[in-house]
Amino acid sequence: MSENKRTFHYADERPDGTRLPMNPKQKWSIFIVALVVVVVISILVTVKIKGKNSTSETMAEGGETTSDVSESQPSATMPGVPVTNDYGQFVTDDNGNTVTESFPTETTEPTTADAPDPDTSVSGETDAPTDIGNADPTQTADTRENPETGRIIVDVDREDFNFIVVNRTREMPDGFVPTMKEVVGSGIYMDYRVAPHYEEMYYAAKQDGITLTPYSGYRSYERQKNNLNNRIATNQANGMSYDEAYAEATSVILPPGTSEHNLGLAMDVCNVYDSFANQPEYAWLMEHAHEYGFILRYTAEKQSITGIVPEPWHWRYVGVPYAQQIKESGLCLEEWLTAQGIAY
Ligand SMILES: [Zn+2]
Repeated sequence: MSENKRTFHYADERPDGTRLPMNPKQKWSIFIVALVVVVVISILVTVKIKGKNSTSETMAEGGETTSDVSESQPSATMPGVPVTNDYGQFVTDDNGNTVTESFPTETTEPTTADAPDPDTSVSGETDAPTDIGNADPTQTADTRENPETGRIIVDVDREDFNFIVVNRTREMPDGFVPTMKEVVGSGIYMDYRVAPHYEEMYYAAKQDGITLTPYSGYRSYERQKNNLNNRIATNQANGMSYDEAYAEATSVILPPGTSEHNLGLAMDVCNVYDSFANQPEYAWLMEHAHEYGFILRYTAEKQSITGIVPEPWHWRYVGVPYAQQIKESGLCLEEWLTAQGIAY
């Protein structure tokens, strides 16, 4: 490195090639500029990492783990998205205004790490009744799997049809349509073995001055699919990317074939208002539905297991002796069947 070969000179260079000492002001301004650069870079990196986490974790296809629901809830970052129920209809409040808060704001759902394992969480606290009537605990579990969705294909022909469980990891066979019966002349249908129980409950409630209007019973695979696609489109129209829109939609609307409505085993009662839990119809159902074989299927407490946000209007048929036992146990259907050793 010869001094002679240099073709440029520093501004603070002495004739002999050495540099003048930096003055204190110069030192400070270099330090401050460096500090600002470091701060800006760390802010940018943090924002990018956060953005990545909030979308990538939600895209587990089919939402195998229930924590996907809580993690995918974009309400905090995407206010103003109209709420729909689990079949894609807009939710309005008592004044007829569209509700735009996507989810309950108190999202205290456990994450994957501390989500209770349905297999173990009930083992120590089996306050579930042991009398299971004519249920057949020896029935073998379904093992068939849909390679496209990765979900278990449930046995819709099992005799104890009241214990069929579909959810984010379990779906009905492709193209299955239950045998149905209309409910109280409403134009709404349920599984023919369930409809009479709903009617019985309907007329009992009527005697107490309560009208349990059938609002949504059986829904076809196609309709479920359309509802999901509509919700995705609405989300995109509200500015979400497709991935965000898909994740949000599947956190509220089950993919086709995985809803109890596709099996005709559940009824959404009355108009679906956010405030249904405050209505006399809800109070009546909480007190009497089990007498007719129906259970409240989706509660806030069990959201991490069911994978569905609380739905006070959604009542699922399980049969008369079992509805009471499940209610008393405080367990959700998946937990209760596991605790009873009933394969599902
Ligand atoms: Zn429902």
